[in-house]
Amino acid sequence: MSALQIAIEGRSFTPQRIFCIGKNYDEHVKELGSTAPEEPVVFMKPVCNIVAPGETLFMPRHGSLLHHEVEVVLMIGRGGQDVPEADALSYIAGITLGLDLTLRDVQGRLKKLGLPWELSKAFEQSAPLGYFKTYDPNSIDLENFSFTCSVNGGLRQQGNTRDMLFPVRNLIHRLSGWWTLRPGDIIFTGTPSGVGSLKQGDQVGIESSVTGLFSWTISF
Ligand code: MG
Repeated sequence: MSALQIAIEGRSFTPQRIFCIGKNYDEHVKELGSTAPEEPVVFMKPVCNIVAPGETLFMPRHGSLLHHEVEVVLMIGRGGQDVPEADALSYIAGITLGLDLTLRDVQGRLKKLGLPWELSKAFEQSAPLGYFKTYDPNSIDLENFSFTCSVNGGLRQQGNTRDMLFPVRNLIHRLSGWWTLRPGDIIFTGTPSGVGSLKQGDQVGIESSVTGLFSWTISF
């Protein structure tokens, strides 16, 4: 299989990593019955789990509570290490929305046992992802960016990046201290409150004024 290529207005990227940030919105931390982290919670999903808008989603077979988590997703445009917060936004090439699909029942079991999260977060098709739009700091305010998730037309999640515990600038700064960022790196920046389960036949839509609407249907 050839590597996934993502084009953003003429530039082609070959993503190799998807970084995901957990517990980045206080209200979501509370609904999980958890406490706010002192530094960003980071995990990864394989790039091959990306699902383009409109493609069919299948229910995973090893869990029963498939939760939607709408998130603002960034594409890194240039490499860097120890990126200062003041420069962080200039490393972003593109922006879109995605779903950090989560098997909540499996995650709960893994957490209790102190085990890694892959079975609950990195399963097949766990990363439905919208199409990227070029990030222009003059027209897109990443510190005040509203987005939603609806299921069968009913609003489930409504978020704004101003509520992030670790704002985008800080996330890029921290991630680039732990890893050397590469062009094509994808960052799921965390979900606001309102996560809930999806069942077969559901249509899930994620939307913002900047990106437009992306939707998927859970197959029977
Ligand atoms: Mg998430």
